[in-house]
Amino acid sequence: MNSASQRISCGTATPSLLASTVTLAGWVHRRRDHGGIIFLDLRDHEGITQILIAPTQVEVFAQAESLRSEDVVRIVGRVQARPAGTENERLSTGAVEIAAEQLTVLTRSATPPFPVANDDDIDETVRLRYRYLDLRRTRMQRNLRTRHRVIKVLRDYFDQHGFIEVETPLLIKSTPEGARDYLVPSRIHQGEFYALPQSPQLLKQILMIGGIGRYMQIARCLRDEDPRADRQPEFTQIDVEMSFIEQEDVMQIMEGAVVTAWRDALGIDIPTPLPRLSYEEAMRRFGNDKPDLRFGLELVDVAELFADSSFTTFRDVAAQGAATRIIALRYPGAASLSRRDFDALQERAKEFGAKGLAYITIGPEIRGPIAKFLSEQERTGILAVTGAEDGDAILFIADRKNAASDVAGRLRNEIGERLGLRDPARFAFCWVVGFPLFEHDPETGAITFAHHPFTAPLPGQEAHFDSDPLSLRAQHYDLVLNGFELGSGSIRNHDAAFQRKIFHHLGLDDTEIENRFGFFTTALTYGAPPHGGMALGIDRVVMLACGETSIRDVIAFPKNQNARDVMMDAPSPIPAANLKELHITISEVQPDQK
Ligand code: ASP
Repeated sequence: MNSASQRISCGTATPSLLASTVTLAGWVHRRRDHGGIIFLDLRDHEGITQILIAPTQVEVFAQAESLRSEDVVRIVGRVQARPAGTENERLSTGAVEIAAEQLTVLTRSATPPFPVANDDDIDETVRLRYRYLDLRRTRMQRNLRTRHRVIKVLRDYFDQHGFIEVETPLLIKSTPEGARDYLVPSRIHQGEFYALPQSPQLLKQILMIGGIGRYMQIARCLRDEDPRADRQPEFTQIDVEMSFIEQEDVMQIMEGAVVTAWRDALGIDIPTPLPRLSYEEAMRRFGNDKPDLRFGLELVDVAELFADSSFTTFRDVAAQGAATRIIALRYPGAASLSRRDFDALQERAKEFGAKGLAYITIGPEIRGPIAKFLSEQERTGILAVTGAEDGDAILFIADRKNAASDVAGRLRNEIGERLGLRDPARFAFCWVVGFPLFEHDPETGAITFAHHPFTAPLPGQEAHFDSDPLSLRAQHYDLVLNGFELGSGSIRNHDAAFQRKIFHHLGLDDTEIENRFGFFTTALTYGAPPHGGMALGIDRVVMLACGETSIRDVIAFPKNQNARDVMMDAPSPIPAANLKELHITISEVQPDQK
């Protein structure tokens, strides 16, 4: 290396260095041969600098001719201004170029399976298998840097608000969050297993009992759930717990955290206070407990209009009262859709779980398959309550309350998407509060917790506790952004006897409570402070902040949609000797889906 030269990065070649000799190293981003001159775009993590290799540099030129994309080289050369008219304003280094005097090839690259120099769409499996190449591309560089910045701002924010970061262990006993545990067999304790944390929930509560007062952690959570498009078996939360507080205190702190992250990491001001909706209201107006508030198109209840209707389908649903809903959903501009488009929409509604989807179109006449059943009064009523105008369509969903809300909520999002109302550059946050404490497990029908079993009910409901547990509301709050749940939290049960009572409601007997949670219920008996907290899903926060639609694009090494790491090929079988050491026999395996 030329000792008189200054070492710079590929992002810092600026006119202030004109005429000096510099050394820089990086990847060959592009090589262009132009009328006997070779140009290299040299790239590192800070940027791209243009290298010019003149034919007069005979040896350097010969070496440069052999260079291919992603080779790693070191250049020594002089910084010079680019000829007038050839500057590149899109690059921070675009005013200069380096006239190469020495070139050292540090490593050759095999031919990459996809171009690194652009962000063209590539099959995700290939991206994940060669993640190191994908990470070199602009998109992943930008996303991981945004992720770092968001986490840094949040860490600083919590530090400034008196929180300390405490690491909690990964090898623990089960902490239920509604998923299955990943289990780790113990070699030294034969036949026994650790559980990996679904969240640090119990440990952070025990930290409160341990007098920590204000805890936060950038925590990895592991949940063995059935794969779904945007689920990862491991994900990261910013996990928070506070003592001697009420729901409002936690919400204030967390609201401040996201607003600060958007302001300081992304330069975007979010107006406060963030809107709040009750769970009931969210379901009624948006059919969803994570409503996308970037657009209106609210669901409108029209059952009343059909109480005496001659359209029997609707009249029968309306007759069932509060257990059902007839929802009208305005679809602006959809009167011009073809019969086929409406058939496709009906199919979509069925995928969402609808039994059927009725519709009318608004114009000089009201048309559509159900139009002939509607009286004049019903037509006027529908137009009045939906605010529909000429050119719109109105969709109707009639079903049991939850099913109707759910389908209408999904259709609303679909319409929002089709009409381009879900702009990724807009950020509509809201809180949803007043969730039920318990719900029916959709698989077993048994009573289960809506958040997790440590959530406290709202005060003043004691009378219904035993008689009508499903009517109980919880001190549970969700933070929602653009239709995604960013995080959940709650005030916890700090009274040991009451916590046992909740466990009983969930069907656990004393022996099970003792075996699974004895350490925790014991801890609660030693003066547990009132406490509560929340966790924000960092992956989703960063995904939305980056305008991405998959959390895999903001995680360095995500699993694929089948919960596999395709780069390492994990999970994978282990040698018989390891199994033996762990006292594990594999009984039966199904062929795997890669
Ligand atoms: N542990 C909860 C979760 O992972 C968050 C909380 O209640 O603080 O959703």
